[in-house]
Amino acid sequence: MIEKEGNRKNLAVIVPCYNEELVIAESYRRTREVLDQLSVPTEIIYVNDGSEDRTYTMLDEIAASDPHVKVIHFSRNFGPQAAVTAGINHCDADLAIILDADMQDPPELIPEILSLREREQANVVYCVRKSREGESFFKRLTAKAFYRMLNYMSEVSFPLDTGDFRLIDRKVMDQFNRFHERGKYIRGLISWVGFKQVPFYYEREARIAGESKYPFSKMWKFATTAMLYFSKKPLRLAITLGFIAVMVGLVLAVWFTLGKIYGFSNAETGWTSIMTSVIFFGGVQLLTVGVLGQYIGILFDEVKGRPEYIIDEIRNFEE
Ligand code: UDP
Ligand code: MG
Repeated sequence: MIEKEGNRKNLAVIVPCYNEELVIAESYRRTREVLDQLSVPTEIIYVNDGSEDRTYTMLDEIAASDPHVKVIHFSRNFGPQAAVTAGINHCDADLAIILDADMQDPPELIPEILSLREREQANVVYCVRKSREGESFFKRLTAKAFYRMLNYMSEVSFPLDTGDFRLIDRKVMDQFNRFHERGKYIRGLISWVGFKQVPFYYEREARIAGESKYPFSKMWKFATTAMLYFSKKPLRLAITLGFIAVMVGLVLAVWFTLGKIYGFSNAETGWTSIMTSVIFFGGVQLLTVGVLGQYIGILFDEVKGRPEYIIDEIRNFEE
């Protein structure tokens, strides 16, 4: 463990890694170089999220040669949110910075982020992407749409275009450790805790090597988790749809009844309109039941109360 020197804050860098054999060595080198220039005690916490490639042995080698590198190996892949959660749960430093292994969030910015925190006396410095290099048009478009949609849906408002790349202090970590929900949307939860949070603008770089470990399926799961955990609007939308359907039904009923009496409606020829409304309202019903199902699914997961992640091995942690 790192000793605290006076009231100087010590810093931990938390890095989730999944199949990152192509970037780990370079990633460690660059992060180490930056940390070496700081005048405060530092450490790196790598969380190996069940990698199937050489990430496991590479991280062990780094930990063996550098006592200020801690490693947590998961028993399988639990996803980056679980990995970052484990990092925060196991961090005893005063400050932590969450960083991606692929260097899309450059560690060279750490000194600036630290001095911004110092100047503003902030508890959180969240890093806002001014631009995103080396990412597909599709990814940038869906990400932009997602952050705006989530803000519209959610009861709290989140900073836009902000990933998990951020600095958090001990106060925030202590509060974060009290969250026991399984579907963690970390950037949302950290906004949610409050305290003083300030933005830091940066250019997001391209991955230094390898491919994104976030295929569309994982992105979709991540986006729906965020929506469902931070908003009850989809449920209200279901009520609104139901209300509209009832109103339309009532108006039509009155119209056709009067039409029959006064002879201005020839309802018998209405096969198309009947089919259309049956299909349409059948769809509305399935959709709203589906929304309900999503929330029940979440309740089911939360009620089971399974652990968020399972640790296989740890390195350089003191028991
Ligand atoms: N990651 C992880 N578990 C996963 C997928 C990704 O720990 O199941 C890590 C990955 O190693 C990287 C970070 O999360 O450090 C961000 O992943 P990636 O760069 O693939 O996502 P993108 O930047 O494309 O959104
Ligand atoms: Mg990346």
